[in-house]
Amino acid sequence: MSPITIPILPSGTIADYRAFDVPRDHAGEILDTLQRPLRDLRISVTDRCNLRCTYCMPREIYDESHHFLPRADLLNFEEIERLAQVFIRLGVQKLRITGGEPLLRKGVEHLIEKLAVLQTNEGKPVEIALTTNGVLLAKKAQSLKDAGLARVTVSLDGLSQETFRLMSDTDVAAETVLDGIATAQAVGLAPVKVNMVVKRGANEHEIVQMAEHFRHSGVVLRFIEYMDVGCSNGWRMDEVVPARAILDRIAAHYPLQQVDPNYHGEVAERWRYADGAGEIGVIASVTQAFCHECTRARLSTDGKLYTCLFAGDGLDLRAPLRQQVSDRVLTNLIADQWGRRADRYSLQRHLLTSYMQNKVEMSYIGG
Ligand code: SAM
Ligand code: SF4
Ligand code: SF4
Repeated sequence: MSPITIPILPSGTIADYRAFDVPRDHAGEILDTLQRPLRDLRISVTDRCNLRCTYCMPREIYDESHHFLPRADLLNFEEIERLAQVFIRLGVQKLRITGGEPLLRKGVEHLIEKLAVLQTNEGKPVEIALTTNGVLLAKKAQSLKDAGLARVTVSLDGLSQETFRLMSDTDVAAETVLDGIATAQAVGLAPVKVNMVVKRGANEHEIVQMAEHFRHSGVVLRFIEYMDVGCSNGWRMDEVVPARAILDRIAAHYPLQQVDPNYHGEVAERWRYADGAGEIGVIASVTQAFCHECTRARLSTDGKLYTCLFAGDGLDLRAPLRQQVSDRVLTNLIADQWGRRADRYSLQRHLLTSYMQNKVEMSYIGG
């Protein structure tokens, strides 16, 4: 069936979704043009943040004059829950709450409670995870666990106060994030994963120190190549430290053995210390693109569906939601958008002669 195109209307215009109000058999799974199913949904619950990581929300751009979304533009929890149900019916198995900084969203535990009871088409519980900078995690870990959160990923780009401040442009103590990680482990949000974005000349000197710190801790430390998401971080290829080089540095101190992926399409390459001190991972988004297995969709804070981290624009789902359309319309809208998806930016990055000028910012759609 050929997809129906929704006309782009001036904002405030009532769109006509009747063409989408037709029965269709999506059979619980939809495939894009590259035969990739829709499996994961990342939900951004705020575009605000209490840090100003230079690679994500540089302070000179995200300053007092920056216009964050007004409250009325944010999807409320009922709207997120309803969309999540539709996505799950189309094959989504995992939900990840992100942002901006998701723990800044008031009552985020209530959203998690609503999502944690949802089931996949196969009748299994939907897995709920959250990515946070960890600043508020010590305070919130228990209530998040009680609400039904299964796992948490904490971003931490350095252990020394100097490096942490340089990367996250903040006076918050790195120790606060470490407390958050310890509390998350203590309440059973395990295994806690820690993400370190590595930027050449900025924090690469702490790679081995980070590895050392989290050995024997049960935390899975993952090193992420610095990516050219958005348009505000002034990304340059020479600032990327390739995953191979990261692994070489660690292996020079602690021999490593590769481990099989947990599931098909896992983005992190898994390694374990040969001496049994635990596991690490590398996410080589730049040097070893994994677009061919990318099953992720992203829902922005204001309800737009993005089918790639590097997309220019998303499909507005808030307008139909607020026009009280049926689930059938929402399902068909999402299925059509996914059905025409051909995104593979990371595979094509090197072919692009000039960088796209309107890529969406990560703090808005979530990492
Ligand atoms: N504020 C939360 C946090 O930092 O964990 C959640 C949102 S943040 C956008 C999600 C993830 O994206 C973080 O792990 C962050 O390090 C990563 N990220 C942001 N900008 C990035 C970039 N330019 N390259 C690689 N990773 C990036
Ligand atoms: Fe905030 Fe996370 Fe972006 Fe850092 S990476 S500025 S913590 S949203
Ligand atoms: Fe997925 Fe787009 Fe990233 Fe490729 S570039 S892995 S399609 S989000």
